[in-house]
Amino acid sequence: MIHKLSALQRSARSHGHAIPHVLGGNLEMTLGAIRAAEALDSPLALGWAPEVFAGIPMEFALPLLLSAAERAAVPVAVQLEHGKSYEQVARAVKLGVDSVMFDGSDLPFEENVAKTREIVKLAHALDACVEAELGSVGGSAVRGSTADPTGYETDPELVLDFIGRTGVDSLAISFGNVHGPYSGEPRIDLELVARIAAITEVPLVMHGGSGLPDAIYPAIVAAGISNVHFYSGIARHAWEELEQKVGDDRYPPYHELVAHGVEFFERKTRHVIGLLGSAGRAADVSRRRAQHAPEV
Ligand SMILES: [Zn+2]
Repeated sequence: MIHKLSALQRSARSHGHAIPHVLGGNLEMTLGAIRAAEALDSPLALGWAPEVFAGIPMEFALPLLLSAAERAAVPVAVQLEHGKSYEQVARAVKLGVDSVMFDGSDLPFEENVAKTREIVKLAHALDACVEAELGSVGGSAVRGSTADPTGYETDPELVLDFIGRTGVDSLAISFGNVHGPYSGEPRIDLELVARIAAITEVPLVMHGGSGLPDAIYPAIVAAGISNVHFYSGIARHAWEELEQKVGDDRYPPYHELVAHGVEFFERKTRHVIGLLGSAGRAADVSRRRAQHAPEV
């Protein structure tokens, strides 16, 4: 069943876990992720990032994600990730997506506020929720590089001003997390997360969740993160796994690769569900929905 991402994030925050967020880039990724969430009774977020899957039109991809989410036995949110323009967000909402992210993190603060506010106005009028980014998560899942000089940490002094003026439903923050692989020792600033979580009830989101030691995730959740994005750490191993599966057969039938792909993404998603403590939490969301008025 489809749920707004903001509803899943709020439920996770109040129950002390975080929502696993993986990309639904194709059928294998989408099906594998949903099978994992159903098997572990976990809520799930499926993202679509136009920059990562630049060769696939969102008009093909988003209906696939929505249809899979609708049929899922657990709550699944479908989000347009890193929307870069009003037009891109509007197209996704028109396709039926009720959770969008507008990423104005490369803009000056005032411009990020102004553009995010416009997106929020549009999305809320059409009953969709909005995540924005304050500070800038560096690195790139597309280029696989961490050498991004534009990444900088979220300034906690700006958080309430940003949320108050934009009306966003959740906030991606930067605290040492990066997209793509980390170069060198990651420096994750959990004190900064806790400081921001203490001043707002708006759920906080971590992008660039791959590449950290498993033991750190409970602390990330405890500090106040309610939603963690994973892609690079999963995707990087897909090819070697498929190579191993086909072994010496240089001409494996393609449908066998697809089947292995589904199995691979299911296993990887099961792992990240375990890291975030969301197994067995699917029913929390429905209970919460029954107790509250319709949510934006
Ligand atoms: Zn991201």
